[in-house]
Amino acid sequence: MYGLKDKQLLKNFSYINGSWHSSATEFSITNPANGAEIIKVSNAGVVETKLAVKAAKDALAMWSAKSANQRASLLRNWFDLMMENQEDLGRILTLEQGKPLAEAKGEIGYGASFIEWFAEEGKRVYGDTIAAPSNDKRIMVIKQPVGVVASITPWNFPNAMIARKAAAALAAGCTFVVRPAKQTPLSALAMAELAERAGIPAGVFNVVVGEDARGMGEVLTQHPDIAKFTFTGSTPVGKSLLKQCATSVKKVSMELGGNAPFIVFEDADIDAAVQGAMASKYRNAGQTCVCTNRIFVQQAVLAQFTEKFAQAVSELSMGDGLVDGVTMGPMISAQAVSDVESLVTQSIAAGATLISGGKKDTAGDNFYQATILTNVTNDMPIAANEIFGPVAPIIAFETEEEVIAMANDTEYGLAAYFYSRDIGRIWRVAEGLEFGMVGINEGIISNAAAPFGGVKQSGNGREGSKYGLDDYLEIKYLCMGGLDK
Ligand code: NAP
Repeated sequence: MYGLKDKQLLKNFSYINGSWHSSATEFSITNPANGAEIIKVSNAGVVETKLAVKAAKDALAMWSAKSANQRASLLRNWFDLMMENQEDLGRILTLEQGKPLAEAKGEIGYGASFIEWFAEEGKRVYGDTIAAPSNDKRIMVIKQPVGVVASITPWNFPNAMIARKAAAALAAGCTFVVRPAKQTPLSALAMAELAERAGIPAGVFNVVVGEDARGMGEVLTQHPDIAKFTFTGSTPVGKSLLKQCATSVKKVSMELGGNAPFIVFEDADIDAAVQGAMASKYRNAGQTCVCTNRIFVQQAVLAQFTEKFAQAVSELSMGDGLVDGVTMGPMISAQAVSDVESLVTQSIAAGATLISGGKKDTAGDNFYQATILTNVTNDMPIAANEIFGPVAPIIAFETEEEVIAMANDTEYGLAAYFYSRDIGRIWRVAEGLEFGMVGINEGIISNAAAPFGGVKQSGNGREGSKYGLDDYLEIKYLCMGGLDK
């Protein structure tokens, strides 16, 4: 089936307390490249979500009591199994999400790398001793798992957005419930199958799949047994989930939307900048939170950059991600295509110039051509909004001060990129950009060793790196008194 070597990886039931759980109704998962049904999955809802929370709560004492080494060894098994099954996991991911197979396999490797990283990092949770204000006392700080962690994840990285959270949570000693996006639950369920094979005990990692985002979300943000809620998705949905979390004062992490500037200074290596812009703009058909959203090019190199960039864009090959040689897949839905189309149309009406693409493609309903707009200004809809599609708006600028101000003129603060060879400028611009992550002469910045996350309305908390573990740990202060003679 679908060229899978291991057909057991294609699951269609929720995974709760170590068992596959069917529900009364089903819904279809379709391939965005052609609209064909891949499989029907059982439609879990509020009841199943509560069961998953109970399972996670019941498993917490057992899991948190394991030593860091025991947890690390089970996580390591999980990592190994993901890498052994990278091809099949990649195929499942391409089928449900659309990205080209090479990119999908890259996502599996990237997701797995967080499991490997946190398996190790979980062994390095350090406390503190602090000088006390009087001799009859000692002050110590220990770190303990937060408790049950609930999460909601988006469709654009169906494996990695779960792996980044679950790996840190499990390594810290927390148990975990995830509700993946309804378009792309198959990758999450395949992860559950491999977690079980890895020996991760029942109740530690639970996946509930269902169409009722709102109802399931209310449980995951408000249930008293959940200690922490972690979300990846859009800023508007994140804001409403934050409000819901307030009712029981949960610890929260929010990985939300972005509007990344990509700045090319006149002293840049233009070929490297073109390569970086291609990678950060068109990966996943422009549907990543760290995708370049606005390309700022200094006037002196505007013509040169635009010509080379347009040439690189013309070499993209669009189609079904399972076909060899395809470098850009479909968008997730016809609605996503029409949202992008509308931003392009409004911006052309406002004075932008279309130099390539600019329309739906004949490859299918969900395909939008790789598009470049020039003569864009920072206030046009294509620059002011998160595009989440394969459109590159180019904005000219004159000075460093001007471009830093324009880059920061957004409520978002996730990723930013710039290209320059001037060491003084590199420090000035890196420090001046109000973003959580800055790529300097680099278009691909995310990896397990680095702290991923945003500032402003792009969210809070960090995933990956030593900082990522802190999001799943509570600090406990121990005051020992009565030590005087
Ligand atoms: P979205 O509409 O916010 O959906 C994300 C998840 O939230 C989905 O699982 C969705 O469920 C669920 N959801 C939607 N409304 C909900 C509600 N009222 N209650 C509970 N859950 C709800 O975002 P998206 O369009 O899928 O993903 C794209 C966005 O994610 C972009 O803004 C992108 O920048 C952001 N993102 C951020 C990061 C990061 O690390 N900062 C990474 C990836 C993506 P359904 O499945 O039912 O729709």
